[in-house]
Amino acid sequence: MAPQLFKELIIELRLRHLLSGWCIDDNDFSIHTSREFAQDNLTEISNFSHFNCSEIKLGSKWDKQKIESAGFISDNLETNGLLECIMRVYSSYFSIEQALLNMKIRYYQNVSYSIVESNGDYQDVRFCVGEAVETTLSDGGQPAFGIVKGIIGHKWNDDQDYIFIYLEWLEYLNKFDDLLDCPIYRLQNANNNSWDRIHPISIVSRSPYIPFIHNCKSKCSLQQHDITNCEYIRNDFFFTAI
Ligand SMILES: [Zn+2]
Repeated sequence: MAPQLFKELIIELRLRHLLSGWCIDDNDFSIHTSREFAQDNLTEISNFSHFNCSEIKLGSKWDKQKIESAGFISDNLETNGLLECIMRVYSSYFSIEQALLNMKIRYYQNVSYSIVESNGDYQDVRFCVGEAVETTLSDGGQPAFGIVKGIIGHKWNDDQDYIFIYLEWLEYLNKFDDLLDCPIYRLQNANNNSWDRIHPISIVSRSPYIPFIHNCKSKCSLQQHDITNCEYIRNDFFFTAI
């Protein structure tokens, strides 16, 4: 999207809301939240061979305080209640059925990698926790979107690293906002486990390019959104402009 169009959006108060919390990355025009995409503290994963990902770099490992503030309990799969889910992922994606010897996981704020698409092209992907990503899974015939809640590294029994994302899914409701005519989604409830939250990072094959904004109702204020309202609008103004 041309910079001058952003200037026009910023001038219009009602439209300025659409840009809240988002910024454009100049390098490849992908959209990231304004939360910093930290380049510090990168961990390169060299013994990562599953699927079609390579050149994986993990950034900003979380400490205990950050793990807890993000809503996780610890760096242990069992205490987080994630063991069953991650074993399903190992089984369904990697055909690995053995019991896990290592319960420890690491959390990171951001990740970048290169992925080979079905047509043979390489795609550079990067995203951070908090961003909405399109996945290769589908939801009612639509690409399934989710908000990244965690980027998780785990060493399997053979000491090889596996990198996963923890997503809160955005459920396609097949209804549209009256004013913007953009599709409305519902964020997966914390108690709704109908969709597994953990998947290999390879289900994300492009950087975030479309923001979701809260479907604000009367209980939302400028300072705070009403978190009991789980509806989000897919901002197709960005979707079509890039
Ligand atoms: Zn709101």
